[in-house]
Amino acid sequence: MIPASPGTPPRGLVVVERFGPTFQGEGPTAGQQALFLRLSACNLSCAWCDEPYTWDRNRFDVDAHSQRLSQRTLLGWALDSPVTRVVVTGGEPLLQQSALFPLVAALAQAGRQVEIETNGTVAPTTEMVEAIDRFTVSPKLSGSRVAAGRRIVPAALTAFAGCGKAVFKFVVARDGEIDEMAELEGRFGLSPVWVMPEGSDEPSVLAGMRRLAEIALERGWNLSPRLHVLLWGNARGR
Ligand code: SF4
Repeated sequence: MIPASPGTPPRGLVVVERFGPTFQGEGPTAGQQALFLRLSACNLSCAWCDEPYTWDRNRFDVDAHSQRLSQRTLLGWALDSPVTRVVVTGGEPLLQQSALFPLVAALAQAGRQVEIETNGTVAPTTEMVEAIDRFTVSPKLSGSRVAAGRRIVPAALTAFAGCGKAVFKFVVARDGEIDEMAELEGRFGLSPVWVMPEGSDEPSVLAGMRRLAEIALERGWNLSPRLHVLLWGNARGR
């Protein structure tokens, strides 16, 4: 097994895939060109997860999908592209925060904008907050079927809410989760907020966006597409 834990010494990152240029499909930078770096492992197990091959050892040979790559290799890959936005996603990328920081810092120093997509359960370090362009924090709701005590970590959400570099994006799988979203928004002072439908094909994403549009307008939330799904379905590496 390739270890990927908060205690992993910074000697490379356990990576599932890297791809781009493509378009960021979700959240405030949807439609912008970006490179994607997908890291291995997750501390949650969402029922509707699009990337179970990053963490689900019952269904996938996660090690066969993963390789350890040096920060130098990854920096060279990113800087070889004229695209300046780099999205680090997972899995849960902050499980490898100590190994990830040198790469983020080097990319920032080279003028790249780094976004980290996180489930909001691991608090960012001060140095990571300084180097990063944006955290896109996606707290999980009950439709994920993960116990509330695992998916909502108050200290971590409080840290993100107060860091000045986070936006909050919720995946809504069922209408009952709207009140949960609002409760979390109020309890932790989450702002700004995006709401996005669950769905891995065009009809379900469009139907979900239409269902959520009026709710988002009423609540003062932003609405996110899943642009990559609308363009390419559920294909990996797009
Ligand atoms: S937090 Fe993200 S990567 Fe982890 S199981 Fe949930 S949806 Fe999948």
